Amino acid sequence: MTANDGAVQLDRLIARFQAVASPLRQQLDELHGELARLTGGAVADYIPELARARPEWFGLSVVTLDGQVCEVGDTQQAFTIQSISKPLVYGMALDHLGLDEVLRRVGVEPTGDPFNAVMVDERSCRPHNPMVNAGAIAASDLIPGAGPTERLHALLETFRRYTGRAVTIDGAVFTSERETGHRNRAIAHLMRNFGMLSPRLEESLDLYFQQCAILVTSRDLATIAATLANGGVNPVTGEQAIATAHVRHVLSVMYSCGMYDSAGEWAFEVGLPAKSGVAGGIMAVVPGQGGIGVFSPPLDRSGNSVRGVAACRALTRRYDLHLLSGTSRSTGLRDAARRG
Ligand code: GLN
Repeated sequence: MTANDGAVQLDRLIARFQAVASPLRQQLDELHGELARLTGGAVADYIPELARARPEWFGLSVVTLDGQVCEVGDTQQAFTIQSISKPLVYGMALDHLGLDEVLRRVGVEPTGDPFNAVMVDERSCRPHNPMVNAGAIAASDLIPGAGPTERLHALLETFRRYTGRAVTIDGAVFTSERETGHRNRAIAHLMRNFGMLSPRLEESLDLYFQQCAILVTSRDLATIAATLANGGVNPVTGEQAIATAHVRHVLSVMYSCGMYDSAGEWAFEVGLPAKSGVAGGIMAVVPGQGGIGVFSPPLDRSGNSVRGVAACRALTRRYDLHLLSGTSRSTGLRDAARRG
């Protein structure tokens, strides 16, 4: 360890200490207490492993660009990342092949249709965008590597850079997703029919099911979001997870397509690029400031975590985070995480 590494670690330690007693921490405590009482929504039950989640689990984490972590509740409860893996894998495809080649394979248009629709854009033969299953499977097909082991390694290595820790796969969720994933298989075959998926279709489907089954916590989601808010550099470890030039492409599709059928309403009300998953996770990116990660399994009718949506709405209002507000301060969240 060099003297400089030591200074950086000390800085992070001080930042953590500040965050523990900050106004933001207090705000999160209050918000958590208030939203824990919400009882609406239903836990996903399309596979038994997800149905076992406890509806009262609720973790709320914020990571700022100066490496501060403010969090409250079940922030260490692991759950499967599910669709929140989609922007990360899209980023991998961009880093590997560049924008032009990826645009030839996956579009950037919102659909207004369910995320698992068996559908591609008939004019271009491309899936509409990388946040719906068709586009995500096409992106998984672009994960580089000579065979399944090498490609899975590339996937896990990218996620490690985003979260700052080695991630693992929930084997039971992966197996169930694979056994029951007939719809996703139909989508893959439709794309293969249009020549938009490689002959290694089964291998790419496995990778898609594996990426959905990666285990994370709300803190991991906040760290991933903060990495995207920071030009692709993890603000806690300093590691680059995605090329800075590609971050804007990932955030753009998250902004327009990240929240299932309520993406328009979300962009209107919350005004932040975000992605949610069926296990109850939501990550929201506050560019130039930090990331928000929420975990609470009960989902609303669009498939988004009820408490997660409510928490992001409250934070965007409280700290004026809406990107198009014209008044949002570029350092509001970071300042609030400091001790008062
Ligand atoms: N893994 C599931 C699927 O592909 C759900 C993904 C999600 O979070 N919507 O259908």
